[in-house]
Amino acid sequence: MGTMQNPAHNIYIHVPYCMSKCNYCAFFSRACSAPDWGEYENKICGEIEFWADKLGRIDVPTIFFGGGTPSLMPVSTFEKIINTIRDNFNLLTEAEITLESNPGTLDEKELNDFRCAGMNRLSIGVQSLDDDKLRFLGRRHTAQDALDLIGAAQKMGLRVSADFIYGLPGDTEKSVIEMCDQINQIGLNHLSMYELTIEENTPFGKMNLDMPTNAEMAQMYVAIDNHIALPRYEVSNYCAPGHECRHNMNVWGGAPYIGIGNGAAGRIYMNNQWYDQLGNGARFEKISNSVRATEKIITGLRTVRGCQLTDDVKSVIDIEWVSNHPMLVNIHNNCISATKQGMLVLDDVILNLIR
Ligand code: SF4
Repeated sequence: MGTMQNPAHNIYIHVPYCMSKCNYCAFFSRACSAPDWGEYENKICGEIEFWADKLGRIDVPTIFFGGGTPSLMPVSTFEKIINTIRDNFNLLTEAEITLESNPGTLDEKELNDFRCAGMNRLSIGVQSLDDDKLRFLGRRHTAQDALDLIGAAQKMGLRVSADFIYGLPGDTEKSVIEMCDQINQIGLNHLSMYELTIEENTPFGKMNLDMPTNAEMAQMYVAIDNHIALPRYEVSNYCAPGHECRHNMNVWGGAPYIGIGNGAAGRIYMNNQWYDQLGNGARFEKISNSVRATEKIITGLRTVRGCQLTDDVKSVIDIEWVSNHPMLVNIHNNCISATKQGMLVLDDVILNLIR
């Protein structure tokens, strides 16, 4: 290890187990009713120690447990992982520690135990407030289960986020507006709205579903933007000011992060060099500053804040194209961001923007 102090890294920890697979899900997870948590814990802690050895005692501003269904994890496993991070890194006192969860996997006592062990933000896979749609999606819980978990978490003073899916077969602009009205009643400070996409090798991928057209999906997207009571701060994310997911904002803004666990990706910045990293131990390889700058543009432009125009970012942007397309992108406060119109065609904007 060199004498140079490496910068802060955010940490993503993947928990690849679920009770069963949902019909739409192509995430890296598998149905497993009784995972070997001891083995999982050892593997995760081993990877943490590996990176501590490489990076030194860096600051850790955020930890995000994603899945899979992290709330299936015993609290003792969560505690062991947090303590290993604390022992090896400088976990900031005000660090954001998020746990993804599914309704029905966590009772109030367990929720409080996670909170006591350091979790301060709960992200809940609600997906729908309609029990028929939940069944169709292959979810194992009811809408009431989800509302109960949200209520319990809010009562405990946790920061709470809920995920929803729209664009199911039969969804219309009108049905999506009704869904927004129901969501607004819950009083959330943060939520995510994901368009249903049909992935190969999922039950939905084999079902030949009668999906809304692209134009209808776009209409629903605009309707959501107009009806959700919270402002949008990223393509799929809405929150009250100050309630952004700090982990994601750091990562989208181009900060370094470590991916821990099978299938978790990371971007390491070590001794002034970027590395592409895949969880599962020691796999990492150099990436150039221009590749990393391109990634920062791709993720930064998904946020309303936009992408900071640092020298590396400037060097890969086609500034002439930017100044010729003020309807799609603008620059202010040394940040480049997509306009509302630009957000609707973001993939094209990004393709044109990068030299
Ligand atoms: S709970 Fe989440 S990760 Fe697990 S199968 Fe369902 S959608 Fe996929």
